[in-house]
Amino acid sequence: MYSTPVVLPGKTIGILGGGQLGRMFAIAARRMGYRVHAFDPTRDCPTGQVADHEVNAPYDDLDAARRFASAVDVVTFEFENVPSQTLAAIEKLRPVHPSPFVLDTTRHRLREKDFLSANGFPVAPYRSIRDVEELRRAISELGTPCVLKTAEFGYDGKGQSRIESIDDADDAWRKLNCPLGVLEGFIRFDREISVIVGRNARGESRTFDVFENVHVNHILDLTTVSGPGAGLPWSLQEKAIVLARDIARKIDLIGLLCVEMFVTGSDVIVNELAPRPHNSGHVTFDACVTSQFEQQLRAVCDLPLGDTTLLRPAAMANLLGDVWIAADGEPAWDRALADPRVKLHLYGKSDAKPGRKMGHLTALADTAAAARDHVLAARNALAGSSESHK
Ligand code: AMP
Repeated sequence: MYSTPVVLPGKTIGILGGGQLGRMFAIAARRMGYRVHAFDPTRDCPTGQVADHEVNAPYDDLDAARRFASAVDVVTFEFENVPSQTLAAIEKLRPVHPSPFVLDTTRHRLREKDFLSANGFPVAPYRSIRDVEELRRAISELGTPCVLKTAEFGYDGKGQSRIESIDDADDAWRKLNCPLGVLEGFIRFDREISVIVGRNARGESRTFDVFENVHVNHILDLTTVSGPGAGLPWSLQEKAIVLARDIARKIDLIGLLCVEMFVTGSDVIVNELAPRPHNSGHVTFDACVTSQFEQQLRAVCDLPLGDTTLLRPAAMANLLGDVWIAADGEPAWDRALADPRVKLHLYGKSDAKPGRKMGHLTALADTAAAARDHVLAARNALAGSSESHK
């Protein structure tokens, strides 16, 4: 295992996973003079398009992973389901940040919840579920409604079902189709929020302001950020920020961690951790002194962290494949950009599918509500059709 030397500009960063998170990371890294190598099974992946070099191999190809690691100075990731053996092989050759321990803990709902509750962080009541009998018992203990989730490979609500009564048990277990599940008590939240924290090897940490998130069909739809003087009461924001910072310290994070939380009254409950840039933080690219992607870079290179100050209240609206489907092809971007405040980010994905994250819009304004109106109006403007765009 390697200790972490400072990795200065000019060096090469390896990123496991080639999606939009890696793409925006690569943009931030190249801007600061780093070279970027991306590892992803699919050719011409969103990260590969902007990286210096793209390695295409399955995630369990250990030889390819070793060759990839040998050619870089430090490895980070944007995709959580890289097999443990691959990370172990890479870690023998180069530093990996965040550590494989952080990744192993956070990509598995049960390990994540056990870690959080063992360390006194607030989570929804939960039970591990191995068969339908355990599920029935757990439903009667936690009460209804409750939510059954897969322990692994779950994101954007995939592998999740809401249980309204004990009679739903058989159906929910069959649908889960997975040997291990987690049953969670349903939280009647007022809001969903997230806090992103960056932490480097010297233990310096910095958080971004609290993001307020709205999900549609379990997928993030809209994020707004007001800053400390507006939006949620400051006592709640502070609670959330302190929680995120404490979790990062406890898990010994080097890199970036997003802590997704539910707000109920004056309480904050942790829903999920993601040890990488997060969709809710995309707004930082335009709205903060330092973006979440640059912060990840600084953290994994053990550079001093950047200022996370919000320049102005801001909003981000996701663009899912449904927008392309509704437009019957490439959406009329000029319509969205008719509002000069609106910024367009596209991920270079050619295959638009329902629910697939293809891009996003951001805007800054005097208030988060005004910024939200700008991005929503711009997105709505894409929905209409005109002959010139056929
Ligand atoms: P997840 O994949 O766990 O982040 O869940 C996706 C979304 O489902 C969350 O953002 C919430 O909107 C909803 N959800 C998940 N778990 C719960 C819960 N225990 N109580 C209420 N809503 C939940």
